[in-house]
This record gives sequence, structure tokens and C-alpha cells, in this order.
Amino acid sequence: MIISLSLFFAAWHSHRKTYNSVYIFLLLTPFSTLYVAHLMSTVGISATYWCYPTVLLFYFIMSERQAWISNIFYVLINLPLAWYLFETHEAFRLSVTLILVSAYATIFLHVITRQYHELGQQAITDKLTGLYNRLLLQDSLEQAIHQTSRTNTAYTLIVMDIDHFKQINDELGHDVGDHVLMQLGAFLKDFFRSSDKVFRIGGEEFLILVYNTDETKSIDIAEKLRRGVENLSLIPDRTVTVSIGIAGLGSGKDWKQWMKACDKNLYEAKNGGRNRVVAC
Ligand code: GH3
Ligand code: MG
Ligand code: MG
Repeated sequence: MIISLSLFFAAWHSHRKTYNSVYIFLLLTPFSTLYVAHLMSTVGISATYWCYPTVLLFYFIMSERQAWISNIFYVLINLPLAWYLFETHEAFRLSVTLILVSAYATIFLHVITRQYHELGQQAITDKLTGLYNRLLLQDSLEQAIHQTSRTNTAYTLIVMDIDHFKQINDELGHDVGDHVLMQLGAFLKDFFRSSDKVFRIGGEEFLILVYNTDETKSIDIAEKLRRGVENLSLIPDRTVTVSIGIAGLGSGKDWKQWMKACDKNLYEAKNGGRNRVVAC
């Protein structure tokens, strides 16, 4: 009953996105450990069958660390008690099987947790450049808008598009184009601070959410970026240039309007002859 109710509680709260495993950890761990200890001393060896589903339950409904702590606590209380209460061969069998089940559950959860994080990272990462892809874009911009209204932190968007990239592909091949994108990705990662977020939002279009920087400061940064790319010598005997649009976060803007303002400036930079920075 306790196991089923705990699972039901966890499933219900997970469904409503209100699940916090701390409460389960604080309640279930001491209660289930002491209850099984009580059963072992009153019912006898058959009570130990409950050890296995209980240990597995820890790994299903708690965080990795909480499950670990609960499992150690469980084993440290119940195994010495088993050696005290039962015959040696029974206590020995219980010890070996319970430790094996605990070890398998630990390894299994650790692998699943690692894979879960890796998949999460892969989902938000652009394969070619290692930058963020579009998936986090809306969330990141909305978070920035929210933070600006709460704490007045300045954020600026920089959109950068490679000039005449189609020509590079057509004349030198797709592989050279890919190589330019990769090198540019590495350059952007190096150029911006870790607090800024760099996205590849289209084929040869990049967007940077610059943290704690107003539009005036961003113009200098973007100009430095434009010159930096120009001097990179990404392809022998050819200069690769970029056009850049900038938009600060004015009040009342939603994320789409913010992007639109930035795109409009990029469009003007292209129309104005490319290899330039345009802000409002
Ligand atoms: P503009 O100066 O106006 O930006 O011209 P452009 O040629 O850079 O722009 P356009 O949008 O005409 O061409 C973009 C090209 O980018 C077309 C597409 O083949 C290329 N592209 C998109 N994604 C990739 C990619 O992952 N690798 C490579 N090598 N090329 C890509
Ligand atoms: Mg382009
Ligand atoms: Mg483009």
C-alpha cells in the first residue's frame, strides 16, 4: 500500500508539474526503513521480501542523490538487524541479494540520468557549430524580457548573417561552406562571454543575446565582431564578411517584436551594402 500510494503521489504531482521529491525523501525513507525493520522483528524472514520493491521505489521516485542516501540508510538499519534476528545463512542471503539489487539500481539510474542529460544537451545544440539551436530561443528571450522588467538588467540582441554565403558554397563547395560555419561558430564562442547566449538560428545566420549590455555598448561590440570576422581569413585569398543588426530591449516589446526589430536592422545592413552594423 505504501509503495503504491507513493508511486501514485509521485505520478499525480509529476503530471501536474508540482512534484518535489524532497517531501517523499523526508517521509518515505525513515518510515519505510523503520516499518520493514518492525515487520522483520514481528513477522520474521518473510518480511524481507519487501526490501526489494522498496529499494527500487527509491530510485523510481527520488533524485539520484536522495535515492542513494535512502538506500544506504535502509541497508545500514535493516541488514545488521537481519543478522541479529535471523539464522546466519538467511542473513547472508538477504545481505548479498539486497546489496546486488541496490548496486544494479544505482548503476541503472546513473546511466539513465546521464543519458537524459546528454539527450537534453543534444536537443538544444546545433550539430555543426556546437552553438545553441533555435529550441531555447523563445524561452531565453522571454526570460530576458522578464528579468529586465524585474531588475532592469539590460539585454541586447545581435543578429549576424554571412554575406554572399551562397557564392562560397557554389564556387568552393558545400564542405568549405560548412568549414566556414564551424570556424565562425568557434570564433563566436570565444568572442562572447559565457553569460551571453549564442545561437545558430538559420543556415548562415547567428543570434547573440548579450547580457547586461545596452544598445550603445553593443554597437561597439558588434563593430569589433564585424572587424574580427573580416580579419579571420577563413578561406585563403578571400575575405568573408558579415552584416549585423542590433536591437536593444525597449519596454513593452515581446520576443517576436524584439526579433523583428533586430531583423529589420540586419536587412538595412544588407541593403546598405553589407559588411556593416546597423542599430535603431
Ligand atoms: P546575403 O549576403 O544576402 O545574406 O546572401 P547569402 O548568399 O548569404 O544568402 P542566401 O540566403 O541567398 O544563401 C544562404 C545560403 O546558405 C544558401 C544555403 O545553401 C547555405 N546554407 C544553409 N545552411 C547551410 C549549411 O549548413 N552548410 C552550408 N555549407 N551551407 C548552408
Ligand atoms: Mg547570408
Ligand atoms: Mg541568411
